[in-house]
Amino acid sequence: MNDITKTLCPYCGVGCGLEVLPPAQRGKATKRDDLGNPIWQVRGDRSHPSSQGMVCVKGATIAESLDKDRLLYPMIRESLDRPFRRASWDEALDLIVTRLQAVQQQLGPQGICMYGSGQLQTEDYYIAQKLLKGFLKTNNFDSNSRLCMSSAVVGYQQSLGSDGPPCCYEDLEQTDFAFLIGTNAAECHPIAFNRLRKYHKRNPRVKMVVVDPRRTATAEAADLHLAIKPGTDIDLLNGIAYLLMQWGAIHAPFIDECTSHFPEFAQLISEYTPERVAQRCDIPLDSLEEVARYWAESEKTISLWSMGMNQSSEGTAKVRSLINLHLMTGTIGKPGCGPFSLTGQPNAMGGRESGGLSSLLPGYRSVKNPVHRAEVEAFWGLPPGQISPQPGYTAGEMVQALETGGIGLLWVVATNPVVSLPDLERAKAALARSPFTIVQDAYYPTETTEFAHVLLPAAQWGEKTGTMTNSERVVTLCQAFRPPKGEAKPDWEIFAEVARRLGFGDRFTYPNSAAVYAEYVQITQGRVCDLSGLSHELLADGPIQWPYGSLEKHFDPQPNREPNKRLYTHFRFPTPDGRARFGAYHSRGLAEPPDPDYPLVLTTGRLYGHWHTQTRTGRIEKIQQMYPQAFIEIHPRDALKLGVVENDWVDVQSRRGKSRFAVKVTKAIAPGTVFVPMHWGSLWAENAEANALTHSESCPDSSQPELKACAVQLSKV
Ligand code: SF4
Repeated sequence: MNDITKTLCPYCGVGCGLEVLPPAQRGKATKRDDLGNPIWQVRGDRSHPSSQGMVCVKGATIAESLDKDRLLYPMIRESLDRPFRRASWDEALDLIVTRLQAVQQQLGPQGICMYGSGQLQTEDYYIAQKLLKGFLKTNNFDSNSRLCMSSAVVGYQQSLGSDGPPCCYEDLEQTDFAFLIGTNAAECHPIAFNRLRKYHKRNPRVKMVVVDPRRTATAEAADLHLAIKPGTDIDLLNGIAYLLMQWGAIHAPFIDECTSHFPEFAQLISEYTPERVAQRCDIPLDSLEEVARYWAESEKTISLWSMGMNQSSEGTAKVRSLINLHLMTGTIGKPGCGPFSLTGQPNAMGGRESGGLSSLLPGYRSVKNPVHRAEVEAFWGLPPGQISPQPGYTAGEMVQALETGGIGLLWVVATNPVVSLPDLERAKAALARSPFTIVQDAYYPTETTEFAHVLLPAAQWGEKTGTMTNSERVVTLCQAFRPPKGEAKPDWEIFAEVARRLGFGDRFTYPNSAAVYAEYVQITQGRVCDLSGLSHELLADGPIQWPYGSLEKHFDPQPNREPNKRLYTHFRFPTPDGRARFGAYHSRGLAEPPDPDYPLVLTTGRLYGHWHTQTRTGRIEKIQQMYPQAFIEIHPRDALKLGVVENDWVDVQSRRGKSRFAVKVTKAIAPGTVFVPMHWGSLWAENAEANALTHSESCPDSSQPELKACAVQLSKV
């Protein structure tokens, strides 16, 4: 009997394939966690096209998190100052249905809000969209992807006509030049970065440039590290464009035939002279020229980015300014080329595809588009006009609506906003005002369960079968290998059960998740993210990259279903005129620049071993030992000014809050800037919350907050 289960690592968007084997090992003692539970064996899946058998420490240790601190049954309490009591599923779901109906009457559909997660499987996402946007008539479904990659989504939409990274991981091994900006991929996307690093090492002609205010592990591997001043990304990108224009290093036929809005862009960048850019970015002039030279001379250029670009009050403008360079040089839609957003979470891509942001509908559709709404209404059997044309609350607007009493029921699923939202004290105060909050999670406690009235136990990785899409559009079937712990249920089943109790029974009756998926993929037919040829049955034979439709593709025909790994290979884009669009943006800089009262820029980020708010990784001993405490990186010059040395403690104060960290003195961070990891919430340390300090100023286009930078002052404890 084959006792290997194929699945996917449920942490980051690299999407590494895993093989899971039962705990018992022939001839060896069974490995157990510190509670005595047998630990399933996990190894990389060599047949997975994205990861080829590689895994990082997070994937390798995932099974150790399966049994600890699990939420085992529903719990209820009347108010936040009362203890929880155990409840049956019937009691908890009846209470939720009663409250949903009451809120609908009192506040209308807008009073209901769900905040989900890139940890959800596509089937979970889809049923949540159908319930909220279709049947409860509210677009108030947003997810923690708002904090992660919504600027990439909007940047792709505005520049290329649709969301969807056009590249694939093979491009990392076929490029001449890799330009990494605002990404510490070595720690945050380690296996994708390994593929690039190995290729770069083997091929000295291949160049790698990393743009980051920190000298990260990623920067260490580069030929050139540009430690630009925080907030000057657009200056740099426009400065490179200026030099390409000056040198005539542009692809004129591509610009003429495949793009629009170039003249406005060319006019704007004429102001970005090298001297001005070098001075604003605080980098040597010859380094600017060197990186521009790589862009000019490479036939195959790939750019990679993640939070350093996206988490910004000008995140969309940054993304579009980067895409401009690919449009100028015609480096898109070809092997080794293209603008490649590294997605944060394992299924943020599946969430985007299934409509899991407050402005989206399934199949990369928009709630603002009347044709899209009509298509989805018809598909779900709803009367015309039922889906609201108004985008729902974004994560930031959800906080504001809680403050003003606009939300009567908040449903938080598979995420921990009480660590990850910006301006955390404000967010906590808003959550404390929520009249009725459901937290649906696999774990208890989390920082967010403190704010719940009802807790619903969710099945997690390994306990439910469903699909996830990784950064390179590869869809993997994540197969269950054990039953849910306690009374936990898959998230989609919980949503469907609530829908049935609300009276929508015949539209929410599915025998299993394969049936949910079979319905969902049909709504993607003919879209850029066409998944309509996929099924659980087909995916059980191995992962498949989209587009994979039952119709011929609009933009990338796939004769004989040969794998088509890239989008836009025919240089036609899903815009009304088929052309990609240049976007012309001046740099606005940081929303909160340093000043005499708050003289340092705080930047935040992630560490190799931890995942987001530690809900899983904080419970894995090996990872805890790697990072015994939160810390702050300070340049020796700033440390001297403050009179602090390694392992001293400092209080870090912003206009919104205060946290305390152990000092790490290092030249890896530029003078004037300090760095703290974002992983520590109140469950894991006292006063080490990075987001107690950050602000909620957001990108006007993507509503993604500027989690990457705020002004702080430091004092020695
Ligand atoms: Fe999991 Fe990401 Fe590590 Fe791969 S790189 S094993 S997906 S955390």
